[in-house]
Amino acid sequence: MPLLAQLLAAVADGSVEIVDLTAPLSDRTPILRLPEPFANTVPFRLREISRYDDRGPAWYWNDIETGEHVGTHFDAPVHWATGRGGEDVAQVPPARLVAPAVVLDASARAAADPDFLLEIEHVRDWEKANGPLPDGGWLLYRTGWDARSGDQGAFLNADENGPRTPGISAECARWLAEETPVIGLGVETVGTDAGAAHAFDPPFPCHSYFLGAGKYGLTQLQNLARLPARGAVLVAAPLPIEGGSGSPARVLALIER
Ligand code: MN
Repeated sequence: MPLLAQLLAAVADGSVEIVDLTAPLSDRTPILRLPEPFANTVPFRLREISRYDDRGPAWYWNDIETGEHVGTHFDAPVHWATGRGGEDVAQVPPARLVAPAVVLDASARAAADPDFLLEIEHVRDWEKANGPLPDGGWLLYRTGWDARSGDQGAFLNADENGPRTPGISAECARWLAEETPVIGLGVETVGTDAGAAHAFDPPFPCHSYFLGAGKYGLTQLQNLARLPARGAVLVAAPLPIEGGSGSPARVLALIER
């Protein structure tokens, strides 16, 4: 049987399962909030054009308003100053949007400490148990934060000192971006960096190092708990916005049952 026919047969009989890693998009989808004096994104919004009425008797449709970095979304290299001149979201080669993915689960640590930071030694320990990081694939960083995604307050988890959400240390971010063969970093939080990463050196190290290395980010993923530590195939589908720094994306994982 041809390869793609085998794949379709496996999807049809359930031996390959499609897991949706995408957060639902609505005006309640949590969004990043930057402090003054920085400019902020708009939330996702539907604006009705017509709904089987005088404005269009037989059809229902909407305009949408959204930021590029709203909900489950893709960060392109050009999003960050370190990636200036790099690929915009429309220039990402389609073959890089279908790639292997591994899942590093730090949800127990993040439950105990919302400021938990992944260090190189944690990734080394993961590699000892699960094998090397995938060449040209995604590192998906599970923190359990998707359980909070229905509530902006719990999701951003801010106090008087700013947001408190788990992330990756600056040293580990640099190492992952510059010395490992992964294509990008996927997270469950509102951005690829920790809530406190504005105060890191450099600030926002995941953005700085990954995008500076021509790699990618995926945020606000869900259902990583349903994926194996390795063996999933990730399909990340951002819109080809010309000149865009990112895009809301449908992100699917194929897993073998
Ligand atoms: Mn982003």
